[in-house]
Amino acid sequence: MRTPDFTLTAGPTMSSQKVLAALGRQITFDYDPVFLDLFRDTERLLAQAFRTDGDVVLMQGEAVLGLEAAARGLVREGMRCLNLVSGVYAAWFGEWMRAYGGDVHEVRVPYDEALDPELVASALREQGPFELVAMVHSETPSGVENPLAEIGPIVHEHGAMLLADVVSALAGTDVRIDEWHVDLAVAGPQKCLAGPPGMSLIAISERAWAAMEANPSAPRGSFLSLLDWKHRWIDGGREAFPYTPSVSDVNGVHAALSEALEAGIEATIARHAAAARAVRAGVQAMGLSLWPKRSEYAANCVTATRLPAGVGTDALLTHVRNRYGVMLSGGYGELKHELVRLGHMGPASRSLNPLVAVCALGRGLIDLGANVDIGAGAAATMEVLSQASAEA
Ligand SMILES: *Cc1c(COP(=O)(O)O)cnc(C)c1O
Repeated sequence: MRTPDFTLTAGPTMSSQKVLAALGRQITFDYDPVFLDLFRDTERLLAQAFRTDGDVVLMQGEAVLGLEAAARGLVREGMRCLNLVSGVYAAWFGEWMRAYGGDVHEVRVPYDEALDPELVASALREQGPFELVAMVHSETPSGVENPLAEIGPIVHEHGAMLLADVVSALAGTDVRIDEWHVDLAVAGPQKCLAGPPGMSLIAISERAWAAMEANPSAPRGSFLSLLDWKHRWIDGGREAFPYTPSVSDVNGVHAALSEALEAGIEATIARHAAAARAVRAGVQAMGLSLWPKRSEYAANCVTATRLPAGVGTDALLTHVRNRYGVMLSGGYGELKHELVRLGHMGPASRSLNPLVAVCALGRGLIDLGANVDIGAGAAATMEVLSQASAEA
């Protein structure tokens, strides 16, 4: 089977030539001065992308590893935690907090809605105090973005630490770790940064480090240990790794971060926002409904779309992949068969890729017997893309 011509998915997504070239570079010794410099420079670029003056850790292993490491490092037996759940990944994170002994309370909204800062404030007021609050910034499975900018300061005011899954948010929407008082954030390189899958990009505040140091059950001497990174790499003057880094992945992440920052983080975010607006306009003009109830909180990374009655997600994805060489995503977790997701991250947000996504979906649905107005969808998508590129 051929590789698809267009990977317009919920991640991993297509990478640029620059990232691909970096991934293909000769493998170096991890203590070669060239690699050590590149590793330190990758940390510097990541801190810039996160807008933090605090520490960052580049852990290898997909972003789920970083999230698990964060949960195990921070959560203690009996710790009062508040989990803010608006989607699949937040629910998953809550399971970890419970598994590591947390006394977990929840604020829950339906998966097609965003978290309401007022609800969060009243939970903190009425059920608090909490030591740790956890949330997902951009819920990729449902294409919903939560207002981290508003929730961060509320959590801070109530004295709790804040952990945020920003895996698909970084470079796709505004992420401000220091300004919003986020104590621990985990991002993934294979979403809006369009780098290789296989690393966790983590920001950690002094307060979060102190909580881990004070936690007797935080992993130590383990692949899952954030503290090993602090003790060996950071406190040791950034000269000794706790274990051998994935040299090629780090090269790829360095290239991806450089590209996003050279274009400018604002311009990179604006490009993702425009692609998302274009796809939303196209999908709706075709006669389909978005999964999120309101487009104001639809995410910039993917557009989650409800399917017309009678068309199954799996049949649609297979058909579009086979006939047009376009790979789209279905739902994930509890939403697996409920919706289709059109990804617009990294190169997938450039040029006419949003049009390809909308037309592949539209024509795929027509081929399978549904009635959508593909012409209206294409025109609406192009209208947004045209205006956005004229303004850029
Ligand atoms: C993709 C994603 C993850 C998981 O990242 P992996 O690198 O696939 O482990 C977690 N949370 C969110 C919000 C994501 O989009």
